[in-house]
Amino acid sequence: LKKGIFSLSDQFDQILSFIYPKILESNVQLDTNFIGKLYINGYAEEIKQVLINIIFNAIEAMSRQVSKPVIKITGYQERHQNYIKIANSGPKIPENIVETIFDPFFTTKNSGTGLGLYVCKEIITKHKGNLICSSDDNWTEFTIILPVSHV
Ligand code: ADP
Ligand code: MG
Repeated sequence: LKKGIFSLSDQFDQILSFIYPKILESNVQLDTNFIGKLYINGYAEEIKQVLINIIFNAIEAMSRQVSKPVIKITGYQERHQNYIKIANSGPKIPENIVETIFDPFFTTKNSGTGLGLYVCKEIITKHKGNLICSSDDNWTEFTIILPVSHV
């Protein structure tokens, strides 16, 4: 793995071709809005893995929903931090469960490993950032916060 300064928006563009077949097959409406390049210092391959994990979880979470599944992804910079928010329409994660979804081996899926979000959190923490989840009746949102780096 190679460490260096890279753009979060560029990495997102790179994973799009990988996630797109699954987006189409699941009939998901994907809205994205990145403001700026969003540079960070770290391991691009790991950050891509985090984005893919969270987006695949979102698609799976909406698989039994009757209304149109929607994913909204926004990226912006604020006060020396980069923010990427990945929100999906769909079932609320109960409050008592939101606290445990980052625990290793916690899964509600028959064939889940429960390691996805645990690994995501480890990667983001290693990059001196933070990964948070909030969920209400309409939306579940994962926020990735990573310190800004300058090129
Ligand atoms: P896995 O996907 O193998 O179950 P994860 O660590 O990726 O493991 O996720 C753990 C659990 O968190 C999932 O089983 C699911 O219950 C919950 N979860 C994750 N993302 C979402 C989401 N977008 N909406 C609802 N629940 C979610
Ligand atoms: Mg997962």
